[in-house]
Amino acid sequence: MLHVLKHPLLDSKMAILRDKTTNTKDFKEIVDEIGMLVTYEITRDLETKEVTVNTPFEAMTCRTLATDVVIVPILRAGLGMVDGIRRIIPQAKVGHIGMYRNEKTLEPVEYYFKLPEINDHTTCILVDPMLATGNSCNKGIELLKSKGVKKIIYVGLVGCPEGVKAVQDKYPDVELYTVAIDRGLNEIGYILPGLGDCGDRLFGTK
Ligand code: URA
Repeated sequence: MLHVLKHPLLDSKMAILRDKTTNTKDFKEIVDEIGMLVTYEITRDLETKEVTVNTPFEAMTCRTLATDVVIVPILRAGLGMVDGIRRIIPQAKVGHIGMYRNEKTLEPVEYYFKLPEINDHTTCILVDPMLATGNSCNKGIELLKSKGVKKIIYVGLVGCPEGVKAVQDKYPDVELYTVAIDRGLNEIGYILPGLGDCGDRLFGTK
């Protein structure tokens, strides 16, 4: 299912990210802030379990997370949101998927994949800020499933109808979270109006 996270703070921060005059430092800081804000929503359905806690007065039953969370950014742009998510889930471990896009076929080419130990209760948060063709997201999901990951949540900043459809057709069980869904793709697979090349804007490359 697709969830487009709507909130005045998210909208305002997205307006800054989309602005081509926003510099690298501000861009990264805003991506951090959005990473923190969206984590609250994307983790809403995580399993919890009962624990007994002794308050200064008496024992009581509380609830705590019953799932190990692993954040898995797709390099390089996915790295941008990791700090914000980790600030909210500091116990989360981090895996990495290295992929680049073949500029002719727009197909993702994997060059690195490392995950911490996972179990049946692990939830992986797959992070890729731009859900464009959906090819890299699908490849990321395929890799996570090949390692036995049962619960995958995708989170990004901007998606488009083509990317959402590509992922939903292949993996209807994966919950998709974005902050915006834009008009569509240009001829080289970038989202319009979008925010440009997210990796370049995060890292100051061109
Ligand atoms: N990757 C980006 O960084 N931006 C896009 O618009 C599409 C893919």
